[in-house]
Amino acid sequence: MYTVAQLMGGVWGAGGGGGELVVNDPADGSPVSSVPVATADEVGKAVAAAREAAAEWASTAPATRAAAVHRAADAVEAVAEELAAAVTAEMGKPLADARGGVEAGIGTLRQYAELAPLRGGRTLHGEPDALDFITPQPRGVVAAITPWNDPVAVSCGLLGAALVTGNVVLYKPSERTPATGWLLARALDQALPAGVLSLLTGGPEVGAALAGQEVDVVAHVGSTATGRAIAAAAARTGAKVLLENGGSDPLVVDAGVDASWAAGQAALGAFANAGQICVAVERIYVHREVAEDFVAALVQRADALRAGPGRDPGTELGPLVDRRHRDHVHGQVTAAVADGAQVRTGGELPDGPGAFYPATVVTDCRHDMPLVREETFGPVAPVVVVDSFDEALRCAADSPYGLAATVLTASMSHAQRAWRELPVGTVKINSVFGGAPGGAAHPRRASGQGFGYGPELLDEFTATKAVHIEAPGGGHW
Ligand code: NAD
Repeated sequence: MYTVAQLMGGVWGAGGGGGELVVNDPADGSPVSSVPVATADEVGKAVAAAREAAAEWASTAPATRAAAVHRAADAVEAVAEELAAAVTAEMGKPLADARGGVEAGIGTLRQYAELAPLRGGRTLHGEPDALDFITPQPRGVVAAITPWNDPVAVSCGLLGAALVTGNVVLYKPSERTPATGWLLARALDQALPAGVLSLLTGGPEVGAALAGQEVDVVAHVGSTATGRAIAAAAARTGAKVLLENGGSDPLVVDAGVDASWAAGQAALGAFANAGQICVAVERIYVHREVAEDFVAALVQRADALRAGPGRDPGTELGPLVDRRHRDHVHGQVTAAVADGAQVRTGGELPDGPGAFYPATVVTDCRHDMPLVREETFGPVAPVVVVDSFDEALRCAADSPYGLAATVLTASMSHAQRAWRELPVGTVKINSVFGGAPGGAAHPRRASGQGFGYGPELLDEFTATKAVHIEAPGGGHW
């Protein structure tokens, strides 16, 4: 059992007056982590202490900060296996995936350590005697509030970019993966000056207390509802808000594609990490011409997945994060069935402990069903049959969300229309996942705002200052 401690003002073990929270293993219900809960007063004190450390870190040379972040990446690497085990114990994903997330996080820390010192401002052409330039500066105090679904990779992105650009950070990991956040913060803190990183633990109330503080940036990766609450809180304090929120990513399957290959893509997109990926395939629009073969192949793929505890090496489909989330997923499936949809496989709550949910394929869905329109975040593939590519594109675009979309097509003109017309941050043609390093996108509408990753995330954590310098009257310094 992990016993988590908070880090405030450079002191481990501080605070916790808000009580204790226990996290249970979603594979068997056994207790995994015991976690202190910060009070609002402790959050305020932690922010004040962080502010004290801000000026010195901001004025540390960028290369020195980058070296510290490289050392932080080394420290995370040294506990990579422990971190992956904590991820699996707390949120259930297969251990190999958890390892992948930790490796991605380490890679991101190193990438930001390399990139940050190379980014600068630029000189301007003003009056010949004057000196004009624009330059990025740290914003100051950053609150980083993160989710549980890929906790190390997501946290390393926000923390790495904020720290290396000279900000002090108050890190509030998800209440569903607090020990993971604690292990990560412990490793990072080893490489950083005291007070530069703080760790606050607890549930939504701790996040809300933090988001309401006089900080300079609130960076949140998580649900749309939380992102909106944070935006409202920051509107009162004037903090900048960076939001990477929910999605309901469509998959369009065009006429003329190989149905078996398309089903493989759909299964990967809908069932990886038990569907708990921000860019998971959440709704499928398949052309009538290939629909029957596609659904048959998708059902086969779903049935072939080996479900089990994430710690078992053979497991391909782990449990959902907890039973509360499973109720949400199952609720959407049963509502769709009550409204005329058909479960082709899965869709039933298994007996036994934990929060397992089977890979589920639902057909006869309509575009207006909540299972299709809302974020499910579970291993569910709802299929809507369409009569044309036009109709598929129209449905794909018609969503409150705007995170990403995938189109499977052999038609270059359809591919071109898709990337131009879909109002989302990322468009993928013929591959549900993947993309070149350095890609970064703006999510749209309910999916958030700002760059949540990529080199541009470094810019989000800096403020650009314009400087104009003239000699004093008389022309001499
Ligand atoms: P969540 O928003 O419920 O929780 C995320 C964090 O916000 C947690 O630390 C939580 O304690 C905190 N929080 C909750 N209420 C708060 C409030 N009122 N004020 C401040 N903080 C608060 O999200 P989750 O359930 O942990 O994560 C799943 C969601 O995250 C899904 O919607 C998924 O799509 C999204 N997500 C998005 C991305 C992306 O890049 N767009 C990446 C990963 C996950």
